[in-house]
Amino acid sequence: MNIDGKTQKYGLIGNPVEHSVSPMIHNFLADKMKQNMVYSTFQVNSEDLGNAIDGAHALKIQGLNVTVPYKTEVMKLLSTIEEDAKIIGAVNTLVYQNEGYHGRNTDYEGLYLAMKSDGIDISNEHIIILGAGGAARAAVYMCMKYSDYPIYILNRTKSKAEKLASEMNQFFNRTQVTTFAMNEYKEIPEIQKGYVAIQTTSVGLYPNIYDVVIEEEDFYKLLHTGYDVIYNPVKTEFMNRVESVNGKSYNGLKMLLYQGILAYETWRNLDVPGEISNEVLKKMKEELHEKA
Ligand code: NDP
Repeated sequence: MNIDGKTQKYGLIGNPVEHSVSPMIHNFLADKMKQNMVYSTFQVNSEDLGNAIDGAHALKIQGLNVTVPYKTEVMKLLSTIEEDAKIIGAVNTLVYQNEGYHGRNTDYEGLYLAMKSDGIDISNEHIIILGAGGAARAAVYMCMKYSDYPIYILNRTKSKAEKLASEMNQFFNRTQVTTFAMNEYKEIPEIQKGYVAIQTTSVGLYPNIYDVVIEEEDFYKLLHTGYDVIYNPVKTEFMNRVESVNGKSYNGLKMLLYQGILAYETWRNLDVPGEISNEVLKKMKEELHEKA
């Protein structure tokens, strides 16, 4: 990497950010795509978020990713926001424009591309979503954008699931999403083909690697595939449970990969070839293995 006077600057804003794999993703892409750019992290305190965005814009930082806990809060600081990010209620990618930053959400499309690359055709699946937080909002939006089949949301706090369902049903103008509390999963009708479950809660995240939102085996028997958005640990307890009843399971590493690829493509106005995406994924796996 040759940093000179023309090097364009990118980065990640959040708190904490020091363990993020995003710098690896983007600097590796820059190297492979022969782009004169650099990507680093910026740990920002909550009271400094406005100043950080203004300062980044003044410094002409060309693009930023935004992570926990600012994906929603940052929205009021942007000059324009894409329609889908508004509905999801979260932005994870900022693009420099003269008048201010433009906000996008690449998480939902990242999840779509990840599932597609794992052979899951969402347009042909009945879906169960565990959780109703930020990642769930992106997942529900993605499922409704690409599929007309029923979607069931299970969440510990049922009122949060109801709010999410009502907003999405209203936006898409159809009653596709139904909600239950986590322990009401028996209300979900059994179907011969089985469901794809997308696990979007933070339960099972390192270091609580033996935790799972639903213990009962009967729940896992409803599924043919389980998709966890968590990638640390690489094999979550949710994935173990799905596999124990002969389901297929995947972690969230590819979602992370593709949200990054999509951000990179937006910033640099180019397409990243599939073989380079695969190289990034390989490097991410090595990196996470090293940290584990
Ligand atoms: P939020 O804080 O917005 O939502 C957390 C969700 O987890 C809520 O549904 C919450 O339920 C549920 N939850 C938390 N603790 C418990 C518990 N003890 N029992 C039952 N449910 C619980 O988080 P996000 O949606 O932003 O993130 C969730 C996960 O997704 C994180 O692990 C994050 O790392 C991952 N993620 C991965 C991405 C990727 O690219 N692979 C992208 C984005 C996120 P309740 O409403 O009842 O509180």
